[in-house]
Amino acid sequence: SDFELTLIAEDAQSGKQFLAEGIAEIERIERLISSWDPASETSQVNRMAGVAPVKVSDELFELVQRAKAISRLTDGAFDVTYASVDPIWTFRGETITPPDSSIIAASVAKIGFQKVLLNPSDKSIFLPEKGMKIGFGAIGKGYAADKVKSLLQAKGVNGGIVNASGDLSAWGVQPDGQPWQVGLVNPKNKNKVFAWFPINDRAVVTSGDYERYLLMGGKRYGHIINPKTGYPAQGVISCTVFAPKAELADALATALFVLGIENGLYFVNQLPEVDAILIDDEGKLHASKNIEVDETI
Ligand code: AMP
Ligand code: MG
Repeated sequence: SDFELTLIAEDAQSGKQFLAEGIAEIERIERLISSWDPASETSQVNRMAGVAPVKVSDELFELVQRAKAISRLTDGAFDVTYASVDPIWTFRGETITPPDSSIIAASVAKIGFQKVLLNPSDKSIFLPEKGMKIGFGAIGKGYAADKVKSLLQAKGVNGGIVNASGDLSAWGVQPDGQPWQVGLVNPKNKNKVFAWFPINDRAVVTSGDYERYLLMGGKRYGHIINPKTGYPAQGVISCTVFAPKAELADALATALFVLGIENGLYFVNQLPEVDAILIDDEGKLHASKNIEVDETI
């Protein structure tokens, strides 16, 4: 995933120094949580699934704890253990023949955030079944955005935006005192922005099906999996969530894809300080109770 950092500094030299520190933090988090890096703690936990608990850093332990809590909050629409279905689907825009339903059923059987055993006394994580996997594809970018923001804030940077491939965490204001503006991309034409929002000290996260998708039976499917069925979720083509933290917004944006328009907005409307804009597969806009939108894009 691409990251883009914007920040305010006294001069170019200190600005570059802050950018380098932000990038180092992103790389550190990637080494810790990536499923692609065989040396990461995440990969170690996954390799030992069904074998033994793995002691991890406080940081990974707490991330899994929070991810498990969000899995529960969304009733498993976001599920930190969705990743056992990962090898089945690739989302590169190509047409595929539907995978065998028995293969899907077998990997769905491995999913279940409830089964993840967290032992707070030795900070170990145990996935009790072989083939179970944790993965942070739907929450890790948001987590990294929050971490870089707090690191830079702690170093005295009083305004900036961390953009983690569409997961934005912003603080402060622009040098001219104006609020930062975030543009929401039109999922049907990704070079066009359909709305601008001022943001201050909040996160804005968009999950869309326009970047990673596949075609099956003439239909388009985005890269978010319904953990209950093992098939890509349908009905929503873009979902933007506003929340105090990018980590929560990231996980919720993924969950709303799975929950769909009606259940998703009902859910968001119960959460304090969280708002969402969803676009359905006909291009119609739907928003949570604090946002007014036009009907279509
Ligand atoms: P995002 O771009 O934040 O919507 O995250 C999508 C990524 O999260 C996918 O590429 C998968 O790696 C992972 N993912 C897909 N479906 C789920 C799900 N239901 N729960 C948790 N992670 C998921
Ligand atoms: Mg997400």
